[in-house]
Amino acid sequence: MKSTDKNNPAKVMIGLEIHLHLNTESKMFCACPTKASEPNSACCPTCLGLPGAKPVLNRKALEYGLKLALALNCRINQEFFFSRKTYFYPDMSKNYQITQYEKPIAEKGFLELKNGKRIGITRVHLEEDPAALVHKGGIQKAAFTLVDYNRAGIPLAEVVTDPDLSSPSEAREFMQQLLNILSYLGVYESDAVLKADANISSGSDRVEIKNITGFKSIERALCFELERQQTVLGKGEKIVQHTRLFDEETGKTVFLRGKESEEDYGYIADPDLPTFSLEREDIEELKAGLPELHFLKAKRLAKELSIPLEQAEVIVADYTLGRVFEETAKKADAKLAADFFSRELLAIINHDNLNPKDLNLKASDWIELLSLLKEDKITAKTAKETAIAVIHEKVNPAKYIKERGWIKDLREGALKELVEKVLGEEKEAVKDFKQGNQKSLHYLVGKVMRLAQGKADPNDARKEVERALNKKK
Ligand code: ZN
Ligand code: MN
Repeated sequence: MKSTDKNNPAKVMIGLEIHLHLNTESKMFCACPTKASEPNSACCPTCLGLPGAKPVLNRKALEYGLKLALALNCRINQEFFFSRKTYFYPDMSKNYQITQYEKPIAEKGFLELKNGKRIGITRVHLEEDPAALVHKGGIQKAAFTLVDYNRAGIPLAEVVTDPDLSSPSEAREFMQQLLNILSYLGVYESDAVLKADANISSGSDRVEIKNITGFKSIERALCFELERQQTVLGKGEKIVQHTRLFDEETGKTVFLRGKESEEDYGYIADPDLPTFSLEREDIEELKAGLPELHFLKAKRLAKELSIPLEQAEVIVADYTLGRVFEETAKKADAKLAADFFSRELLAIINHDNLNPKDLNLKASDWIELLSLLKEDKITAKTAKETAIAVIHEKVNPAKYIKERGWIKDLREGALKELVEKVLGEEKEAVKDFKQGNQKSLHYLVGKVMRLAQGKADPNDARKEVERALNKKK
């Protein structure tokens, strides 16, 4: 790369198209359930695309899509309609997908990143998911492919952004923020993964990358592609518009097909569905009913509880954790609660890859545990170990701690006696310490802690050992 390029690098422009499953009970255009155990058991003439079957719009799916669009600050189109996107593939038996093109439900919104930068939302539209193709034994080795139509017709919302993202890490933050919003709205099937396609250009034609799942992969895929483009451009070669596929296993993008455009799909308005119109008041009512979203909640709690904003942001990013935290912080020491939730609890949740929604977290447990910690009746280590048991085994914290004898009652007098006993037994170590060996101090404290069986605080124990040793000098 020439040195001038470094000082004035080409502007990176990234846009995303994100598909997300709306968690309705029935499908987008028929009454089939969205969840079924046996393949091809939740299908009807409509979602199978049999001749003569007529689609009917699911009111809940529309409501969920509108909520999402409003949370993304979009302008709602009071009139919208559905179109047929024509393509041939075994996952779409009608040979077209019912989607929105000319008039989506919403346009022109934005999502704000943490640094205040606004990422434009081009549009939010509704569409049906195609069937799932099942390649038994992997796509390369499978002798044949099975089609499961249970997924055909499940409602999807598609969020399309303007090409406002200027780095892979911004794209990752966007996806994460979108997930946070979805956890607050409760309109998203959280067991599903966010699927995204990305457009990226770095001073050249744009390249589309398909098949990226999850917010960690988006950064990986874009980093790879950005580097690839810069290498090509660095050699003085050109990049022409084309589509690539992201391979999760290798972390690389590979060429898929040449230039294509939306017009190639030959969209036509679906004659089986009417033009829908919404009342202003209904939109206003939906807007008024939106929950307080994570970024507003973080600001409010930081102020109300006098805790750092960054700490509040980390805790309330997830709806459930934010709700339990607020309830806990009202009755416990707020600062202690914020420290505990942001460090210990989140560490457990992230380490074990858990979804707070599934954990049945109760504020009363955390209030109890934090009050023991606040009153200095347990050590920080005990609090942490108990938190793991509360999350995984649903134990009652006070009872659990008591049963294990973890209440720190070895204070002053009792601790002193224990230290004297240890120093009396460990004459060699005491001698070593007097000769300047600091290691023997650790050894002695360790022995005291073992004998104390969790009832002493390590700091107290160390202080007491030091005091006793100095006295002996
Ligand atoms: Zn159906
Ligand atoms: Mn789509």
